[in-house]
Amino acid sequence: MVAHQIEQRGIKNPRVLEAFRNVPRHLFVEEALWDQAYSDFPLPIGSGQTISQPYVVALMTQQLGLKGDEKVLEVGTGSGYQTAILAELAPVVCSVERIHALLPKARNILEKLKYTNIMLKLDDGTWGWQSEAPFDAIIVTAGSPSVPQPLIDQLNDPGVLIIPVGDEYSQVLVKVIRSQGKIHQEDMGGVRFVKLVGDHGWNPS
Ligand code: SAH
Repeated sequence: MVAHQIEQRGIKNPRVLEAFRNVPRHLFVEEALWDQAYSDFPLPIGSGQTISQPYVVALMTQQLGLKGDEKVLEVGTGSGYQTAILAELAPVVCSVERIHALLPKARNILEKLKYTNIMLKLDDGTWGWQSEAPFDAIIVTAGSPSVPQPLIDQLNDPGVLIIPVGDEYSQVLVKVIRSQGKIHQEDMGGVRFVKLVGDHGWNPS
């Protein structure tokens, strides 16, 4: 998976590649899907949600540019796979999930893998995590109609936020950078994610 899907497509950051080699992806999906866990596509994780394609997880992770001393916020814990990758790369990872049924599964596997630097919370992550802010890096793993203002407000200076923005069928990966008191934005290509549902995302339907 790392060689063919990630490294060959241009993810070269050695720390990111090492993180992907360290995290056993199959443990984050149901046993019936273990034979597909390292394939080049997203997989269902229950409650209508998906674990993202490995390459997309790698691309977003590399874009965060983690050096090893950051506090990171993830919105959309889902299976916990991206959370584990982040926990390999940063000393503190806070992750928020809104679906009640998904969080215990993620918590269970992350505990089994002995991560001690992850905080999980059941909440609407479009509000960020105010009591733990500011964050040096924020990653949103669901697609939003716009960039939620609370996430921009909780971004440190310097800080970077990666979020898929668009309609419900396709989004552009947007990178928001705060540096020396200024905010600027870069687009990084098309992606497709499940919906970010919340007060600063999509309405529940
Ligand atoms: N990072 C996950 C991807 C899961 S899919 C993984 O590696 O498995 C996106 C997740 O975002 C879903 O679990 C969905 O329930 C969650 N989500 C959607 N809107 C949210 C919100 N407002 N706050 C927190 N989580 C949200």
